[in-house]
Order: sequence, then C-alpha cells, then structure tokens
Amino acid sequence: MRLSRYFMPILKENPKEAEIVSHRLMLRTGMIRQQSQGIYSWLPLGKRVLDKVNAIIREEQNRAGAIELSMPTLQSAELWQESGRYEDYGKEMLRIRDRQDRPMLYGPTNEEMITDIFRSSVKSYKSLPLNLYHIQLKFRDEIRPRFGTMRSREFLMKDAYSFDLTQADAIHSYNKMFVAYLRTFDRLGLRAIPMRADTGPIGGNHSHEFIILADTGESEVYCHKSFVDFDIPAADTDFDSVDGLQSVFDKWTSVYAATSEMHDEAAFDAIGENDRLSARGIEVGHIFYFGTKYSEPMGAKVQGPDGKEHLVHMGSYGIGPTRLVPAIIEASHDENGIIWPASVAPFDAVVINMKPGDEACDTTCDRLYVALQNAGKDVLYDDTDDRAGTKFATADLIGVPVQVIAGPRAVAAGEVELKDRKTGARETLTIEAAINKLTA
Ligand code: ATP
Ligand code: MG
Repeated sequence: MRLSRYFMPILKENPKEAEIVSHRLMLRTGMIRQQSQGIYSWLPLGKRVLDKVNAIIREEQNRAGAIELSMPTLQSAELWQESGRYEDYGKEMLRIRDRQDRPMLYGPTNEEMITDIFRSSVKSYKSLPLNLYHIQLKFRDEIRPRFGTMRSREFLMKDAYSFDLTQADAIHSYNKMFVAYLRTFDRLGLRAIPMRADTGPIGGNHSHEFIILADTGESEVYCHKSFVDFDIPAADTDFDSVDGLQSVFDKWTSVYAATSEMHDEAAFDAIGENDRLSARGIEVGHIFYFGTKYSEPMGAKVQGPDGKEHLVHMGSYGIGPTRLVPAIIEASHDENGIIWPASVAPFDAVVINMKPGDEACDTTCDRLYVALQNAGKDVLYDDTDDRAGTKFATADLIGVPVQVIAGPRAVAAGEVELKDRKTGARETLTIEAAINKLTA
C-alpha cells in the first residue's frame, strides 16, 4: 500500500476525550472513528488489525473442531420469549419493531438462535459433539460505554456454542475451548489468565473469564504469579484426547486466580507473599458450561444410544475481537506509539523513502516494495513528501514491526537501514540482504 494513496487520517494532537492510552492511540492513528456514543467505524488501518485478530481466532477455533457459520444481527423476540430472557435482559437489549409491528431485537448474544438452529436439524447423538461459532456484531446498550472499542455498545464477538449428549462430553468440549483460548491469546502476543467466574445456579467449576493484566483494566484480579511461566499447549495438541486436554485444564486451574466477584481472601492469603499478584485486568474472553439451561425450555433433544430422548448439554464461549485490539495496545506500546506483535501488525514492514523524486531512492524503494509484496508480505510504502521527522514519527506511531529506511546516501552505497520498532535496534544491510532478511 502506497501511503500517498491510502486512507490513514492521523491526528496531530492527542484527542482530549480519550482517557486511556489504547483509546488515544487508536484515535490518533486513525484506526477507528466514533459515529455515535459507543458505536465505531473501523477505518482501514484498524480494519487490517481486526481482520488479523479474527483470522487467528478463526484458525484456533477450527483447530479445536468448532465449525463456522453466520447468524444475523437482528433477531425475532419470539425466540427470547421461549427461553424467558426477553423480559430478563433489561435495558441492555435494543428492542426494535419492524413495519408489521413485530418485536425484534439487535442480538446481544446468540444462545437462543443457535439452539433453534440445532433443534431444527439435529436429532441423534451420532451428530454430536457439535460446536458452532460465528464472528458477528452484537449490541448491548451499556450504561457506561467507554475507552473506545474496549467497552462499546456495538462490538464484535466470536461466540461459539457446544452441544453434547452428556455432562462429561460437555466438559471435554469445554476443555477444547479452554485450550483454544490459551493458544489464541498467546498468538496475539498476550498472556491471558483463566480466572474462575460465577456459574450462578448451574454451579461447578466450569466458567472462566480470560483476563489480561493491565493497569487500565476494569476488573480487580488476584492470582498466583506462576501463571506467567505456564506452557501454552502446542499446535499439534490432540483435541480428541480427553485426558490430554483435562491435564492442561488441571494445570492451568491448579493455582489461585479470581476476579473480585469470586475472590476468596483466605485462599489468596495462603499464597506466599512473593508469589501473590493483585492487579487490574481486562476480560477478553469468557467460557461457560450451562448444561440444559436453554435446551430445556426450548426443547433441544437428541435420541441417545439407549433410544430415548435426551436434552443436550450446552456451553458458550465468547471472545471480544474489538476489545482485544485495544487490549493488545494496552499491553504493547511506548511513548512513541503502538508496538504491534508481528502476528497482528497492520503491515509487516514499512518502506520509508527519504527522498521521493530522487531516482536512486525511488528505484530502490520500488524494488523493495515489489520484492516484499511478492513474498506475501503486507507492506506500507511511505512515498509521501513529508519531512523525514514526520515519516519516522508516523512509522513509530502506527507500530509496524520493521522500518526499512532508504536515504540517498545509503542507497548510493547500495544499502538501506532496518529499524526494529520494538527494540529500536538499527542495522545497515545491502538491499539484497535486506530483502532476504525480510522475506526469510
Ligand atoms: P463485561 O463483564 O466486560 O461487561 P460480559 O461479561 O458482559 O463483559 P460476555 O457476555 O462474557 O461479556 O461476552 C464475551 C466477550 O465479549 C467478553 O469477554 C468481551 O471480550 C466481549 N465484550 C463483552 N461486552 C463488550 C463490550 N461492551 N464491548 C466490547 N467487547 C465486549
Ligand atoms: Mg463475562
């Protein structure tokens, strides 16, 4: 992408309305724009990052055996009357009427709809286990939308729903998502800690919120420090191995971790003082086994091996991509701007032409631009006639992992400079070597 032809409306000043660094940087870099309270457009730079986050979420959901579909944002109130949640949900639900005066709603979540899809076509235990997910916009009329897309009213959610014949099978499905979440957040460059969450009347140990530690987080959290060193399950994890996944779950739930709602002062105090961590955190995911809570009122049953009808056991598994993007920034930035982990960076590299119009600089930059693109890299080419200082500041601000700097003197010697955004380390290489390094 040539910067001169791109749409990246960078702000010169820090926006006053932004209270936390991620919100400030997302506005300044032109990643997002607020359209009305808690409702955002994702501008091209932001959309690139969001798409990369979604791609990783999707890969890990698929790896764990979940199957993607797409459900609508608008739902009929009827389904929600069946489950009893239409009245219960309260003011967070945006209720709408269509031209026939039928009550509709903008979905805040999809348990009812997926249960309806399931019951209409699955009749036998032989079709189980089944886990269906989508990545779709949700609307919750939050009382206090704030911090940009961290807590917005319209937001994206990956929500998966599992269906099993028995509770034991459902726990295996739960563990698959538990492992998928550990891998997902790790690939996004985050250390997320699963913390026991309230299961309400369902009980048990099968609801976890995945929390990123950050000073600006809205939740108060308490945990053992050892989480920092726990191993992430490998890509070749056997998701069909009941015992294998259970052992990962057991390991990751073997030490204390709770949000303030579930906090047990005595259990926390029992941890040695040096191993205790009390901090603030951001909830980026939530997984939940809820048994027959929806299958019962909505009549979602399958025929079991015994020939009888059984209510299916369900779980739901949410991740917030539009919250994850600011969460990643909270975890990875410095005074000059964002530092994207390579896995979600909007561009892999930025080629900075220090003297557009200079034939040698132009030729060199074109060559780099084409070679990197041909190698499948996402490249931003700063071909604008901005001052050098502005170009460097922009490159730092938008946080692209590698800057390739082509100035007249270096280019005359057949060289360019590479700068690592994270460490600031610079090295001068021949153009050939630079291309090799960046496409390796
Ligand atoms: P919170 O406690 O932060 O309000 P929640 O418990 O209501 O979230 P869930 O229903 O568990 O959220 O939704 C699953 C995921 O969706 C959350 O872990 C979060 O990543 C994301 N999410 C929920 N609400 C919002 C929101 N208002 N803005 C952005 N992302 C959200
Ligand atoms: Mg939650």
